[in-house]
Amino acid sequence: MGRNQDIPKAVIKRLSLYSRVLQNLEIKNVQKVSSKELGELLGVNSAQVRKDLAYFGQFGVPGFGYYVSELRSKIKKILRTDRPLKIGLIGVGNLGSALLSYTGFKKQGFHIIAAFDNDKRKIGKKHSDIIIQDIANLEKTIKEKGIEIIILTVPVEKAQEITNNVIDTGITTILNFVPIRLIVPDYVRVHYVDLSIEIESLSYYVK
Ligand code: NAD
Repeated sequence: MGRNQDIPKAVIKRLSLYSRVLQNLEIKNVQKVSSKELGELLGVNSAQVRKDLAYFGQFGVPGFGYYVSELRSKIKKILRTDRPLKIGLIGVGNLGSALLSYTGFKKQGFHIIAAFDNDKRKIGKKHSDIIIQDIANLEKTIKEKGIEIIILTVPVEKAQEITNNVIDTGITTILNFVPIRLIVPDYVRVHYVDLSIEIESLSYYVK
């Protein structure tokens, strides 16, 4: 879809952090911010801020800085979060239920609009305004609802097979909480979230 794949992942991640910082500034009614101030709020230097933004064109006014709202809306456009993002979740167990219950995603424009499971006791039940669907309806629902991202919270041993089915529906963006490396074609983007790895690496710094 015409996205520049050469932009480093770290830059994209920082854009999301810039957006959050800018949102907080907006809440405080701050109108303008310099790259130095923005960098300080994020723990990076001003050159890094300017370099990150330069990947996407000309932003701000030299010697003046950026208008907070304008920069935030431009970043949201780049990240495609300037419109509601349609998300589906597979595996409504402990973790999946917690994610479904979290109301904060909606405030960020991330809408989990469908949830799937294969447990007959869960299928048809309502969870956070969503009726849990049979995984057998995956393709039909993804197409009907225009789902763009799939969140995976299923048991390890099921994850690859489910991923294959997800890819067959045409989905190319997956957020995987399952602690395995998924085998996917080049055009599919998988981001991994693993709290155990975060805790383990943090444990190195325990005094
Ligand atoms: P769980 O057993 O409570 O939930 C798994 C759910 O997946 C169940 O509802 C089950 O019915 C469903 N499921 C199983 N097979 C399915 C299929 N073929 N199609 C659709 N749904 C299916 O497990 P949990 O504690 O919620 O953990 C879920 C996953 O998340 C596990 O892989 C776990 O290792 C991982 N996890 C990751 C993190 C993290 O930090 N990334 C933290 C906790 C758990």
